[in-house]
Amino acid sequence: MTSYNYDLFVIGGGSGGVRSARVAASLGKKVAIAEEYRYGGTCVIRGCVPKKLFVYAAQFHEHFEDAAGFGWTVGENSFDWTKLIAAKDSEIARLEGLYKKGLAGANAEILETRAELVDAHTVRLVNTGKTVSAKTIVIATGGRPNPHAALPGNELCISSNEAFDLQELPKSIVIAGGGYIAVEFANIFHGLGVETTLIYRGMEILSRFDQDLRRGLHEAMTAKGIRILCQETLQKVSKQDGHLLVETLNNGALAADVVMLALGRIPNTEGLGLETAGVKTDARGAIVVDGYSRTSVPSIYALGDVTDRVQLTPVAIHEAMCFIETEYKNNPTTPDHETIATAVFSQPEIGTVGLTEEEASKRYKELEVYRAQFRPLKATLSGRGEKMIMKLIVDASSRKVIGAHILGHDAGEMAQILGITLKAGCTKDDFDRTMAVHPTAAEELVTMYAPSYRIRDGVRL
Ligand code: NDP
Repeated sequence: MTSYNYDLFVIGGGSGGVRSARVAASLGKKVAIAEEYRYGGTCVIRGCVPKKLFVYAAQFHEHFEDAAGFGWTVGENSFDWTKLIAAKDSEIARLEGLYKKGLAGANAEILETRAELVDAHTVRLVNTGKTVSAKTIVIATGGRPNPHAALPGNELCISSNEAFDLQELPKSIVIAGGGYIAVEFANIFHGLGVETTLIYRGMEILSRFDQDLRRGLHEAMTAKGIRILCQETLQKVSKQDGHLLVETLNNGALAADVVMLALGRIPNTEGLGLETAGVKTDARGAIVVDGYSRTSVPSIYALGDVTDRVQLTPVAIHEAMCFIETEYKNNPTTPDHETIATAVFSQPEIGTVGLTEEEASKRYKELEVYRAQFRPLKATLSGRGEKMIMKLIVDASSRKVIGAHILGHDAGEMAQILGITLKAGCTKDDFDRTMAVHPTAAEELVTMYAPSYRIRDGVRL
């Protein structure tokens, strides 16, 4: 029998990689994991976690404003960007430490180096040039922001990576893109007092979300003072008199201190030795895998953003757990990518799970759509003119709830719970016989008794 240095070698210390390495090691496997930057990966170091901390920071000015309606007088206040960055950095360092502690506690060997494939069972550690062998290899190298190489002046722009560590808070920013990152950062920067313009090529921001939420969020963001230019594209970015000049197709030139590109993310596969090892990639450079996350080389698996299936942290972690079941528990398990609940941490927030009205009307003969739009209780005293939207999409024939969409405070938290109900196949009748929790905004989800409208054969009745 061939003997290898390790049972498992994991390349990439992000969500999927760390989970695979830690759990395999805890099962008694001999495991090594290599990371070239910082343990925790995009999510912990320069993604979900610091982003959410920034979201909290950006919400305070509205909290201060709202307080007056409840009798409070809030004194003079100011915001210190460097303090936020320092606090964020120390929390990220703590989490990075916890990731490493978890790996070490499970007896996984932690390597701080880039690692590249040599063949189906061999990896080269770039810092020493040493090669090591493993029975199984997992590639979990994640992705990085699309630099938009075709845009003249793209080198003057930042991505979300740099947004987390700007030396100072800009006075103005132009953000290109209409997806999760562009929308979340537009709200963060605006909330911190930055003059913010969002430029998106399509008709309406957040193209993969329900139309009602897209429009509702667009209106709410505009009402706050965020400038949103849809059906618009950046033509060129250049430096002029200490600021940046953004030339657009339809709106002329805009000046800004910072231009941020949030135009999707690309898989980290360059220079990994994939071709040498025989691992196939697709046209976008993502690693091609089968249902079990196995690549074209049977001893090599790939999971998370490097495979470009669904670019979300919980998905990478789930794929890692399925890999463990398949490889080490004699229980072949394919990741389930259906009905994934997700949130956009905009202000107001979006929480969503299942099919949008548009998707559902293409797949189902008849739908019932339950829709509520209302002013949340807190806004009655704060005077804030915001509206909450809740929407359930129901298949009229089976009565199953196939989509649930929320715009408003804590929508992400609600989406998590709704995710369970949709995954369990709950019907509208199950929702109807569930007692409301009063007074909450979420009670609306179980008290929408009559459909707001129906859709038959794709046509709204
Ligand atoms: P998204 O895929 O969400 O959005 C990319 C945006 O860029 C879209 O609006 C897209 O337009 C636009 N775009 C792409 N290429 C071009 C181009 N050449 N010119 C102009 N516009 C372009 O990617 P993000 O970068 O925002 O985020 C990456 C991934 O990270 C997300 O898909 C998500 O899975 C994950 N993420 C999740 C978060 C969360 O869970 N809250 C937060 C942040 C990121 P169009 O719609 O027309 O294609």
